[in-house]
Amino acid sequence: MTIQRALEELSSLLGQRLSRSKSDLEQHGASETHFPLTPPDAVAYPESTEEVSEIVKICARNGCPVVGWGAGTSLEGQAQVFQGGISVDFRNMNKVLQVNPEDMDVSVQPGITREDLNTELRATGLFFPVDPGANASIGGMASTRASGTTAVRYGTMRDNVLGLEVVLADGRVIRTGTRARKSSAGYDLTGLFVGAEGTLGLITELTLRLQGQPEAVTAAVCAFDTLDDAVQAVITTIQMGIPMARIEFVDEATAAAFNGYSGSDMPLCPHLMVEFHGSESGVQEQAEAFGEIVADHGGKGFEWATRPEDRNALWKMRHHAHWAVLASKPGAKALVTDICVPISRLADAVNETRADIDASPITGPILGHVGDGNFHAILLFDEENPEEVQAVEDLSHRMVERSLAMGGTATGEHGIGVGKRKYMEAEHGAAWDVMGDVKQALDPQGIMNPGKMLRGN
Ligand SMILES: Cc1cc2nc3c(=O)[nH]c(=O)nc-3n(C[C@H](O)[C@H](O)[C@H](O)COP(=O)(O)OP(=O)(O)OC[C@H]3O[C@@H](n4cnc5c(N)ncnc54)[C@H](O)[C@@H]3O)c2cc1C
Repeated sequence: MTIQRALEELSSLLGQRLSRSKSDLEQHGASETHFPLTPPDAVAYPESTEEVSEIVKICARNGCPVVGWGAGTSLEGQAQVFQGGISVDFRNMNKVLQVNPEDMDVSVQPGITREDLNTELRATGLFFPVDPGANASIGGMASTRASGTTAVRYGTMRDNVLGLEVVLADGRVIRTGTRARKSSAGYDLTGLFVGAEGTLGLITELTLRLQGQPEAVTAAVCAFDTLDDAVQAVITTIQMGIPMARIEFVDEATAAAFNGYSGSDMPLCPHLMVEFHGSESGVQEQAEAFGEIVADHGGKGFEWATRPEDRNALWKMRHHAHWAVLASKPGAKALVTDICVPISRLADAVNETRADIDASPITGPILGHVGDGNFHAILLFDEENPEEVQAVEDLSHRMVERSLAMGGTATGEHGIGVGKRKYMEAEHGAAWDVMGDVKQALDPQGIMNPGKMLRGN
């Protein structure tokens, strides 16, 4: 019973679709952030649920760890293989299986990316709203319970996944949920697998809720003198119930990075980037109400983007923030961290974090989906400099401590992986042990994505 034996059996099952090439192993051993390269023993490329089930059965027989791989954009080392074993890459399972326009839902395979899904949906007048910025896979997004710029209006993956097909750790295939919009039938297993980071099973199909493309869309950027003014404007907007489709905060350092990377000429101060969806009159009303709030908080320099190409340019710049910030300090590594606090504590959380970073030797722009109380710091450091390594770890740690003390969470959307496992006890207490009980019941051998999220696995 060894990984080697599993690889031999997998090779007979998959032939060329079990890869051990150096480039494949390295690609599947890398992450978007600061975790070291940890190549898996092999990469499997299944093409059907039946194949995924056979793969898992072989791995279960041989005690070989199995780690799902969508697009590899997760930020806490979730998709890396730290204890040997195989990476199961879903890129060949990337089909739209069924669109039901009248019910506004769609069934897809897990490897489809959100951009490809929305391209395929374009002609239907519907779209899938969850947008983490990166062109992640739908299976990976469900597994990290992703959200992003539009969650303030449309919710996270938790709200947008209606049902799943899952291959369990013993190879059994189950279906959770239905196409009905709601159900009181039993435990919510869909909710259990959404956010499980592949520790309980591999998702092989998803049924998703869709939204109608809005009749009118308009976006804008506005500038503020202080970080506090910008954040207070967000809090008032949310408390007034204005149905923002996006409301993003970027600080002065992020604006500077945008200018350097995208050639924009944003004034060097904090900004909000917003978008409104609705009917022509609805959008206008929302924009006016928001404009008044902004004026009350000293906001200025509104730039509207009503044409699709201008909006695309605006959101492309926002989505490229990670790379813009990285480019601002060539050679630096990034520790990207996110916390989420109750909206009433947002200003304190952002202000205290900004002051903490400013008092350290680290460059760390702050930006985020502030309408949900969620924000990120991209902490840049030289990995050869132990003082900087320690400083970013300390800053990230204090961000989480601050969030938990304010009634928030260690991560609003990036998930746990290996990076934030150390905070599970503080956030969940005895409930973390219950998660361990669920893991033990569904994966007693501990082969599904070991070393992540749970205590001592
Ligand atoms: C620039 C940048 C910006 C980002 N912004 C956001 C953001 O705004 N919001 C946000 O939520 N995230 C954000 N992220 C993080 C990332 O995009 C999300 O975590 C995303 O959901 C990961 O999807 P993926 O397809 O890349 O998954 P992967 O990284 O491949 O995998 C993520 C996890 O899911 C598991 N997994 C993958 N496929 C399956 C499957 N079929 N069955 C079971 N388990 C599976 C993996 O084992 C792993 O544990 C950002 C990342 C980058 C690089």
